[in-house]
Amino acid sequence: MQKVSFFKSIHVKFVLVYILLIVIAMQIIGLYFARELEDTLKDSFIESIQQRVDLLEFSMRAEIIKKRGEEDPTIEQSLRTVLYSVRSEDINEIRVVDTNFRILATSDTNKQSIVGQRSMDTNVRRSISSETPFNTIKVDLQKKDRIWVLASPIIYQGEVLGAIYLESNIETVFEQMSEINLILAGGTAMSLAITVILGILIAQTITRPISDMRRQAQAMAKGNFSRKVRVYGNDEIGQLAIAFNHLTNRLQEAQSTTEGERRKLASVLSNMTDGVIATDRKGRIMLINETALRLLKVPRELVMHRPISVVLGIDSEYTFEDLIHMKDSINLDFSSPERNYILRVNFSVIQKETGFVNGIISVLHDNTEQEKIDMERREFVANVSHELRTPLTTMRSYLEALADGAWQDRELAPSFLNVTQTETERMIRLVNDLLQLSKMDSRSSDLNKELVEFNKFFNRIIDRFEMSRSQDVHFLRLLPEAQYFVEIDTDKLTQVIDNIISNALKYSPDGGNIRFGCIVQGGLLKAMISDDGMGIPQENVERIFDRFYRVDRARARSMGGSGLGLAIAREMIEAHGGAIWAESEEGYGTTIFFTLPIELDEAGEWD
Ligand code: ATP
Ligand code: MG
Repeated sequence: MQKVSFFKSIHVKFVLVYILLIVIAMQIIGLYFARELEDTLKDSFIESIQQRVDLLEFSMRAEIIKKRGEEDPTIEQSLRTVLYSVRSEDINEIRVVDTNFRILATSDTNKQSIVGQRSMDTNVRRSISSETPFNTIKVDLQKKDRIWVLASPIIYQGEVLGAIYLESNIETVFEQMSEINLILAGGTAMSLAITVILGILIAQTITRPISDMRRQAQAMAKGNFSRKVRVYGNDEIGQLAIAFNHLTNRLQEAQSTTEGERRKLASVLSNMTDGVIATDRKGRIMLINETALRLLKVPRELVMHRPISVVLGIDSEYTFEDLIHMKDSINLDFSSPERNYILRVNFSVIQKETGFVNGIISVLHDNTEQEKIDMERREFVANVSHELRTPLTTMRSYLEALADGAWQDRELAPSFLNVTQTETERMIRLVNDLLQLSKMDSRSSDLNKELVEFNKFFNRIIDRFEMSRSQDVHFLRLLPEAQYFVEIDTDKLTQVIDNIISNALKYSPDGGNIRFGCIVQGGLLKAMISDDGMGIPQENVERIFDRFYRVDRARARSMGGSGLGLAIAREMIEAHGGAIWAESEEGYGTTIFFTLPIELDEAGEWD
């Protein structure tokens, strides 16, 4: 913030105003006072002189009209005696002049030589001729003093006898005046000094809280709300300071509320599993959360303030205007040959009550799994329908043939009926398998677990197959002597092993070998069933556990398989906490492995 310069500060202004007021007041008072005083002093000076002149005039008149004898002193002598007697400090000189303007006497002892000369003074002449007194103020050229000159006629019975001429030193009055003026000036200076000090003090009481408030406002702008303005009194400024402190508190509260809200919103946004993008009214990204960045696999600095349609890669299909009116969600397919990756995007408009669009919010969701599930579901339904249709169409054609008369044929009829029966059984098997899968999907099938010794359990299943086999296949058991205890649902695991062995038998040539193995690895029991049959192409090995998957449909169907056996096996093994996988080489054979957790407590002796 800009600093207030010294000359612009309230402080200086305040003091200046005070000084000006005092100066003006003193000037007005001084001027008026001096004028009045001067007039009064002058008047009283003149009056005192005038009184003496009146007295003098009286004596002069008496002397002039007096009848004189031979021994009597001359008129000049007696006038001089009178004049000498009235001499005083303030009177410089008094002269008496007769009607012919001849000087009869002077009070100045040094100027007795002028007696008998004619007076040149115009005041004297005018006062004798007009019979009225005249006075002026003259400057004594030698002493540079001002002198007051009066010429007053001596009148006796309406006749002018002469005039009194008087010079008095009025300078004393002016000296007195300038002394008084000096006192006044001193007073003014003193009161000015006091005013300045008072002004500074009073201004301080105003400016200090104000600059305090200024500092406070500056601190507030920097986010520091802890400062408080000091309240000096309960005047307007004190109340302003109180209001200011109140404002500070409110601002602090408001700020912490908004800060809290902001933090809440930020944590909600950053902890959301969905991506959120908000734009301004032109569609430029203003806010994007971490999830959205992660889903889009872009750095923040690259997408901020860029158009949302460009960032989502849909600018060729949709304008921002289209997105505003978009009701349904759209899928963005970022899949690569290696990996499926699909995002679902929803748009909603940020709108004011007036309908003005302020921007849009889009929510991104990773839809890859959902899409995969949807696809699998569609595939599954298609597979099921296809698998059911095949036996049904076969049955229909045989039944049609029977209806058309084949039933009467003693040789054909039993074989036709046999086919329909086989197909029906196949359908029943298929439906049973499907039911079992759906049970496993809905997790409604609880495992009926019991503790069994695995080798014994495994051997019993192998025995069953060995006794009932129709092909020329050799069974090789590579099972250890030790006892491995597992907690399993024996019915379900029997089904799993049955399916693996029957697959091995199905795809083994005559004279082939089927090997059975079992080892313990990392706390898990690992079982293995291996054949040296036709094998599975490398790229299909993983898929044999998918529902309805068969490597070669035509071949498999001819062998009565629907492709659900291994899918069911995987569900069951996983439900037991194990895993199942296959290793195979085309033309050389296939090995199926599965693991089961071992019960260590009961299997103490095998280690
Ligand atoms: P189902 O078991 O439902 O009667 P299926 O045997 O065809 O039918 P799966 O047991 O799930 O189905 O096997 C899936 C596919 O995997 C088979 O169709 C077959 O192509 C292949 N397969 C499984 N085991 C072997 C094996 N030992 N050798 C070669 N191919 C196999
Ligand atoms: Mg099978």
